[in-house]
Amino acid sequence: MLEQGGTTAAVISVGNELLFGETVDSNAAWLGRHLSARGIRVVRGYTVGDVAADIEESLDLAMDAADLVIVTGGLGPTPDDLTKAVVARRFGRELVVDAGVQQRLQSHFRSSGYDDVPRRSRGQAEVPRGARALENPSGTAPGILLEVDDVHVVLLPGVPAELKDIVEGALAEHLNALSGPPTHHRVVHTTGLAETSLAERLEPKLGSVADDLKEGIDLAYLPDLQGVDLRFTVRGGSADDADVRFDRLIAALDEVLGPWRFEADGGDIAEAVSRQLRRRGWRLAVAESCTGGLVAKRLTDLPGASEIFVGGILAYDNAVKVGELDVSSEELERDGAVSEVVARQMSIGVVSRFDVEVGVGVTGVAGPGGGSEEKPVGTVWISTSVHDEARASLHRFSGDREAVRERAAQAALAAVYRRLVGGGEGV
Ligand code: ATP
Repeated sequence: MLEQGGTTAAVISVGNELLFGETVDSNAAWLGRHLSARGIRVVRGYTVGDVAADIEESLDLAMDAADLVIVTGGLGPTPDDLTKAVVARRFGRELVVDAGVQQRLQSHFRSSGYDDVPRRSRGQAEVPRGARALENPSGTAPGILLEVDDVHVVLLPGVPAELKDIVEGALAEHLNALSGPPTHHRVVHTTGLAETSLAERLEPKLGSVADDLKEGIDLAYLPDLQGVDLRFTVRGGSADDADVRFDRLIAALDEVLGPWRFEADGGDIAEAVSRQLRRRGWRLAVAESCTGGLVAKRLTDLPGASEIFVGGILAYDNAVKVGELDVSSEELERDGAVSEVVARQMSIGVVSRFDVEVGVGVTGVAGPGGGSEEKPVGTVWISTSVHDEARASLHRFSGDREAVRERAAQAALAAVYRRLVGGGEGV
């Protein structure tokens, strides 16, 4: 559904440390977001080591693919910094001193106590003939802009802060001229359904929605362990127009999304739960077994948690479930610790123990051991109590111990959220 046309870009990241995994290529990620937001389509990305032939090869590929080629890294003064020399040679431009850069280098080093620019840094004043130096306010290597056969080639230092300063500063005006219509996004957070299940329900619904509601709106599924974010994108028009269009389309999809979506600026359901509790002036306590405090952690990660969170009981051992939460030892014996009755009694027990409005009980098999045919690893009962009314749900989570625990904590928070907003299926 991507709109074609407009300026295209390719990003080349240079540095052995990127290939060896010592440094994560955050520059490419940042550039991807920045350029996309400007309506410039990033169509290629390359990562190469500090090897002249490899830099040159990626440059040739990028020049064929895009109108704007950005190379990051390898602009410094050390012998492994090859980018500028390779680019100058490839385009048959000799390196010449840029008077402005030289002056800035001189004043930089003089103010640092040097008589002159040290020999090893003198090359930083050189740019390929015909290129423009882009001022680097936070470092010594300037960015470089040159045009070759209608392609705009930009060289930027690898240090992320310096790269951003140049892109948002000296390069901004040039990018303005290349920018397409602005891109607008709206993210809808969902939890409780896997990406494929969500798509199975959403796609037919989307198919049945009137064309004028969905035309020109792209949808991306962005899953992680905690849920699936749906990112809607509109290109062009004003932000207000885009908001109206998002509202209309999302309202049309509400029948499918309603049970699974939640509202939180940061995309964290703990934030959504806190907000709902705060709105009612209610407080919550937890009774956690297999999650070992993860639900409490998620809630207390947020500032101001004491207004909505009281405390909890880590009821790992059955004796704690019985002794501290009034779980019936007969029923525990009969149904086992991972059972509906125990989860219910845990959530009710913690409500009365802490004298709060909302209680959560979580009991399950996180693995890798402890599973059985009837209750395999990943089996988790979650109960939420509002006052003394408990509702329990059975879950089967996939993944290793860490994933099961994280998914269980997320599902427990989602269950609380649904209770508070009055949702149905998603509990
Ligand atoms: P300098 O002027 O500091 O020498 P440079 O252009 O030569 O800058 P590099 O030497 O390649 O840049 O890298 C400088 C620092 O920036 C290193 O710590 C490197 O790990 C980091 N860096 C380089 N490329 C990237 C990237 N693509 N994403 C994130 N960090 C990067």
